Amino acid sequence: MSRLLVVEDEQHLAEGLRFNLEAEGYEVEILGHGGRALEALLRDSTRFDAVVLDVMLPGKDGFAIASELRAAGRYVPILMLTARSRPEDVLRGFEAGADDYVPKPFELAILVARLNGLLRRGRWHRDAAAAAGGDVNAQDTIEFGGRRIDFEAMQVTSGEQAHRLTRMECELLRYLVSNAGKAVSRRAILEEVWGVHEDTDTRAIDNFMVRLRRYLEDDPSSPRFLLTVRGVGYTLALPAER
Ligand code: CA
Repeated sequence: MSRLLVVEDEQHLAEGLRFNLEAEGYEVEILGHGGRALEALLRDSTRFDAVVLDVMLPGKDGFAIASELRAAGRYVPILMLTARSRPEDVLRGFEAGADDYVPKPFELAILVARLNGLLRRGRWHRDAAAAAGGDVNAQDTIEFGGRRIDFEAMQVTSGEQAHRLTRMECELLRYLVSNAGKAVSRRAILEEVWGVHEDTDTRAIDNFMVRLRRYLEDDPSSPRFLLTVRGVGYTLALPAER
C-alpha cells in the first residue's frame, strides 16, 4: 500500500482528499503547517511514497519545502497543488523540485491519475521514451564530455560524482538529447516538456539551463555542449565521438 503525506492547511480540502485517497487504497497522513511538514519529511522522507504539497501554507510555503528537501538530497516524489490562475507557480514549483502539479480547483480523478503516474515513475520514463520513438530517445543512458546521463536512474555522473535530477530536469535533458543539434525555443520547451500553454514568462527556462550546465559542463560559464542560440533559445551540441 502506498503511503502519502498531504500537506494542506484547508482542513475540509485535506479531509476530503484523505477520504477519497483512502478509498483509492492509499494510506494518508495530513499536515497543515509548512514548517512541521518539512521537519517530518527531513526526519524520514522514506516514510512516504509521495507528497501532495499545497503552495500556500502557514509557516513555510510549498516552494520552500520542495527546494529545501531537494537541497537536503531527499527525492520523495512531489505533486504540487498550484493556483490555476498562476502559471508562473507551475514554473516556480518545477524550479523548486516538484515532479508534477495539479492546478486548484482540481478534479479528484486527475489528482489520482497524476499520483499514480508519479508512483510508477520508472515505468513512466520508459513509456515516454517509447512514445517519443527514435533511437536516441529510447536510450536510457547517454555519455558525452566525461558525463553519463542515466534517464532511468535520473542522475548525471561524472567520475565519482553523481547529481540527482528532478523529473523535470530529466525530461528537459531528454528533450534536448532527442533534439540534439537543433535549436529549440523556450516556448517549445514550455509547451512540450512542461505542458504549459499559457502566456508565461519563458525566462524561467533559463534558470533550468543554468542548473543543467552545472551538471554537464566543466566550465558552466563557457559551455561546450549546452549552448545559447541568440534570439531563439538553446541547443545541445553533442560531440561526434563520445
Ligand atoms: Ca493552502
